[in-house]
Amino acid sequence: MKKSDFGSLNIDTNDEILTQMLNKALEAKNNAYVKYSGFPIGVSILTKDGNVVTGFNIENASYSLTICAERAAFASFLTQGYKTTNIDKILVVGDVDAPISPCGACREFMSEFIHDNVEIILVGKKDKIKTSINELLPHRFTEQFKGN
Ligand SMILES: [Zn+2]
Repeated sequence: MKKSDFGSLNIDTNDEILTQMLNKALEAKNNAYVKYSGFPIGVSILTKDGNVVTGFNIENASYSLTICAERAAFASFLTQGYKTTNIDKILVVGDVDAPISPCGACREFMSEFIHDNVEIILVGKKDKIKTSINELLPHRFTEQFKGN
């Protein structure tokens, strides 16, 4: 098993799934297109059948067209034919000490596709936390309001 080389972060390498998700997210992060910010982010989405789909942030000279890693990962996940009911866990990693946290737009975007039982693992160089979409975005806008 390949051990994570991510700084001083205490990742339990006996947790093979977490290690695999982290290594794939780190690999994605290393390919991020961040020529303007220099702030790469990697994401991995674990499917219930054990596959990992990744994404990274993609910047643009017209800054507002930038796509965050979370949304890029979901676009890849969906275009590969996966159904949202097949999401087990999501991991987000960035080059900061504290656990990286999805922006507000990505929280709303992800909430379209995941339920509260999907574990979201936020990883920084020195710490990680496990959370959920309900913790990240309580009282969010959902399709239920469209019926009113
Ligand atoms: Zn975002």
